[in-house]
Amino acid sequence: MSLAPFFTFFSLGAMTQIPPPDERQDLIGLSREQLGALMLSLGEKPFRAKQVWHWLYHRGVTDIQAMTTLSRPCRDKLAQHCTIRRPEIVREVTSSDRSRKWLLRFADGQEVETVYIPEEDRGAACLSTQVGCTLTCRFCHTGTQMLVRNLSTAEIIGQFMAARDSYGEWPTPTDDTRLLSNIVVMGMGEPLFNYDNLATALKIAMDPEGIAMSRRRITVSTSGVVPLIRRLGAELAVNLAISLHAPSDELRDHLMPINRKYPLAELMQACREYPGASNARRITFQYVMLKGINDSPADARALLGLVRGIPCKFNLIPLNPWPGAPFEGSDDATIERFAAFLNDAGYSAPVRTSRGQDILAACGQLRSASQREPLSRLKARIAAGIEEEAGHRRL
Ligand code: SAH
Ligand code: SF4
Repeated sequence: MSLAPFFTFFSLGAMTQIPPPDERQDLIGLSREQLGALMLSLGEKPFRAKQVWHWLYHRGVTDIQAMTTLSRPCRDKLAQHCTIRRPEIVREVTSSDRSRKWLLRFADGQEVETVYIPEEDRGAACLSTQVGCTLTCRFCHTGTQMLVRNLSTAEIIGQFMAARDSYGEWPTPTDDTRLLSNIVVMGMGEPLFNYDNLATALKIAMDPEGIAMSRRRITVSTSGVVPLIRRLGAELAVNLAISLHAPSDELRDHLMPINRKYPLAELMQACREYPGASNARRITFQYVMLKGINDSPADARALLGLVRGIPCKFNLIPLNPWPGAPFEGSDDATIERFAAFLNDAGYSAPVRTSRGQDILAACGQLRSASQREPLSRLKARIAAGIEEEAGHRRL
């Protein structure tokens, strides 16, 4: 047998082992203005930007050559300088309750998770905004992970696009049958500490000539970064969810160190002033039920006093347990009692059923299944976090 073919294969393999880094501009994540400026810099007319936008966000193409309304020379020039990236899907798991979870990897190897949560009226893509989190909420598994970095605009909107790829929902369905009908920004990280990238990503999602998601179908959840809640309301006016979890400053300081920087009175004032807050468009207060910590009838009563005058609803969340969690979840009867108390006072307070238990769908769990921090370091970090006056100083 001749060795020639073997050597040919071997040398080819060696040559292609380390591909040169692709330094072309990613088209995903540019605002409309930035895309317009880019096309102009390539010597193209402004209306080309509108066409490219349509291909990217309405049709969901991943190949510049598929943009067939552009002339061949225009496509070639664009492809020479630009590319269309998607996060790499490392793992995809679908739960028996139809929730689906993706572990996504970006160009630098960092990973986040994105979840599809089926709801009665279709479903929501739950997006992450940071790798890890600077805050150290004591019940949260992401809070035990160091912040690695903020996600870029492309990485935030790219999660939604990867989810849409997975469900084959391109071109953007216009007949309201789409499964991915909503966006909730409730994944890893504190969204408002990555405000600029989040805002651009949500503007891309809301653009009527692309993904065309109504602001009423987008919800941003925050631990309570008061000044940025105001900015979110003024600039984006999407739905607001607050991770409340405690009816008093004393308890909230303990559970969520950010409360020391922005205490409840300030947080509630920002909610009262949130634009568009009305009975038709209520603020959601998320409340994780912790056994013997925040689940008594007195806590429920205090909660009602706290939110008086704010058009709101509650989301009662059974604790999603994780190894080493310092709390136990409340039992079902206690949660039911708590919910009934709020209902009797006229508030909607559904108990959020735990999704995807079989696929580790709690915040931060899929990523950390393979990247667990040593327990000793974790404990030291939690202790340090409690001492920290403003949890976000580490950003
Ligand atoms: N960081 C943002 C958004 C993401 S977390 C925020 O805190 O609002 C989504 C929701 O799940 C938040 O209300 C968060 O407090 C809650 N959560 C975190 N860890 C949890 C756990 N182990 N069990 C149940 N809910 C949890
Ligand atoms: Fe960060 Fe939200 Fe977890 Fe708090 S609950 S540590 S803000 S991800």
